[in-house]
Amino acid sequence: MQAKTDEYYMQLAIEEAKKAAERGEIPIGAVLVANGEVISAAHNMRETWHDATAHAEMITIIEACAILERWRLNDATLYVTLEPCPMCAGAIVNSRLKRLVYGCLDFKAGAAESIFNIVSNTNLNHAVEVTSGVCEEECAAVLKDFFKKRREENKQQKQK
Ligand SMILES: [Zn+2]
Repeated sequence: MQAKTDEYYMQLAIEEAKKAAERGEIPIGAVLVANGEVISAAHNMRETWHDATAHAEMITIIEACAILERWRLNDATLYVTLEPCPMCAGAIVNSRLKRLVYGCLDFKAGAAESIFNIVSNTNLNHAVEVTSGVCEEECAAVLKDFFKKRREENKQQKQK
């Protein structure tokens, strides 16, 4: 059996992001993979759960640790549509993830390269392998479409 590509798993993360949009959540999706198998998949749940920490990456990491019954995920890769924020980057380092793969950059909160580099900072006791720009345009388009639609809806409401 041929190993699946980063693009394949990123498409699953994009599917998760689209589910978030349907719920009115900012569309960010994540998938955690170990030995080629999807262990957990989640999307942003901040509004639904009233939880500031309910980012897609946090949920996939927490679920994967529970399913695998261990906190070290050093054989796993996390796929996420948007560059992780400092909180999620901290969780990625603390769970000893092997690899992080993300789609588009977050210039307002990114903690892998845009503002900070937490995930592969060699001063820390664990550095994560990083691949960025996988399905970048598609990941960005999901976010862009969501905000565009929301602006239009807000405009329509004001006109009523
Ligand atoms: Zn985050």
